[in-house]
Amino acid sequence: MTDVLSAAEAAESLRGLLPGRLFLPGDDGYDAARTPWNTAAVLAPAAVAVPESVADVQAVVRAAADAHLRLAPMSTGHAGMLLSSVDLASTVLVRLTSLTGVSVDERACVARVLGGTVWDDVVAAAHPHGLTGLHGSAGGIAVAGFALNGGLSFYGRKHGLCANSVRAVELVTADGGLRRVDAEHDPDLFWALRGGGGNFGIVTAIEVELVPYSDVVAGMMLWDRSRAVDVMRAWRDLTVDAPESVTTSLRVMSFPPLPDLPPFLAGRDVIVVDGAFLESDERASALLAPLRALQPEIDTVRRIPTSELPLMHMDPPRPSPAVSGHCVLGELSDDTIDAYLDQVGPGTRSGLLSAELRQLGGAFARRSDDGGAVSSIDGAYALYAVAIAPTPEAVAHGRASASSLVQALEPWSLLHSRVPTFIDDAVDAADVYGDACDRLASVAARVDPQATFQAGHSIR
Ligand SMILES: Cc1cc2nc3c(=O)[nH]c(=O)nc-3n(C[C@H](O)[C@H](O)[C@H](O)COP(=O)(O)OP(=O)(O)OC[C@H]3O[C@@H](n4cnc5c(N)ncnc54)[C@H](O)[C@@H]3O)c2cc1C
Repeated sequence: MTDVLSAAEAAESLRGLLPGRLFLPGDDGYDAARTPWNTAAVLAPAAVAVPESVADVQAVVRAAADAHLRLAPMSTGHAGMLLSSVDLASTVLVRLTSLTGVSVDERACVARVLGGTVWDDVVAAAHPHGLTGLHGSAGGIAVAGFALNGGLSFYGRKHGLCANSVRAVELVTADGGLRRVDAEHDPDLFWALRGGGGNFGIVTAIEVELVPYSDVVAGMMLWDRSRAVDVMRAWRDLTVDAPESVTTSLRVMSFPPLPDLPPFLAGRDVIVVDGAFLESDERASALLAPLRALQPEIDTVRRIPTSELPLMHMDPPRPSPAVSGHCVLGELSDDTIDAYLDQVGPGTRSGLLSAELRQLGGAFARRSDDGGAVSSIDGAYALYAVAIAPTPEAVAHGRASASSLVQALEPWSLLHSRVPTFIDDAVDAADVYGDACDRLASVAARVDPQATFQAGHSIR
């Protein structure tokens, strides 16, 4: 690929392509187009293209190839931190935010979504048919980056990783061609895409299976942080015995005293349990009884339309600056709980907004015979620790706090297991993909021999 000086000249050769939707450094619109959802990530690509059609994507891929520039697909940029550690001076960032749309095939229980479509749109389109998708905690995440990197949903202990729900992928590959890939057509590439995400091309459409729920028992319970030991132990007991119909999460959250936060959160340290129960009201109540016995200050758990589930986790609705840390735990003993609480909450000055443990197990742990590169996750709980990081100092402090928590939990961690969507820092491909690495690299060498594509999680 080109060196930095000639990269700028190469990018200049793209000028005029996609009028009003391709930006070079210094252009009006460049800063807005290159800024990911995670605003702590600073990306400085040679150019940013915002295609509106498959033909636009093909034009960008061909022009970049002619100019010897690389390509980095990005939808919302929720995982923008992954690209921020990469030198993008010779890379065109391809934002899929204008290539969106959903159609639902009710009889087949499948949604076809265009490249940059977010889950909110899929959930809204599916709900009138009594269906929903295996989305994550925030509806603003794009289907492509979520599903093609694994994807933990609150339906996941029953239905598995979102990657296993992918039925077909359409992508523009390095030669500018459009391919439709599924179990019958290039099954090797289909395997690689389901976990290996953005390493093989720019996904212009993806088909995902939907699940037949129009309502679900879901919501959150909140206590003051002072109740943390009791709440964590009760939640641990729930998770150990819970049926696969139940997928929950526990977070210690520390909120700054900001005026735009609701009074029950501003300046407070709290512990929150939330999740989804694919159960009757009676059975869900019985499962929740030990937590309710601890008298939560707030309890919103009730039967809700599945279209409201993306709001349950209270994720930030607008772009935010954040850094995070991640590991997978094999167990949550009383000692693990003590080690965790020593690191988070009042008095620790950790600076973490949220230290979350997401319940794994059930179908998350079952390798699918016809699944892709990432079809299951070993372990019992996934840690996702998040610090708000609006300044470089806050980035450094947040990273140190998250990594201190990860280190403290190491005695109970499964070092071979990771949730790719919960990794925001560049790590070795082996740490993301384990024993799938070699096969992923060989598929990439066949489909993208010049290493044109720069994925968030790069396999080479
Ligand atoms: C607030 C918040 C809540 C979250 N909740 C969950 C959760 O509940 N469960 C969970 O599993 N994860 C969760 N995540 C992590 C999130 O799912 C991942 O960051 C995911 O990869 C984001 O996908 P995206 O496309 O929106 O982001 P992007 O940053 O746009 O994409 C991530 C990567 O996917 C690839 N990619 C994206 N679009 C395309 C495309 N069209 N073609 C080819 N490659 C593409 C690229 O390699 C890109 O670098 C959360 C993250 C945040 C910030």
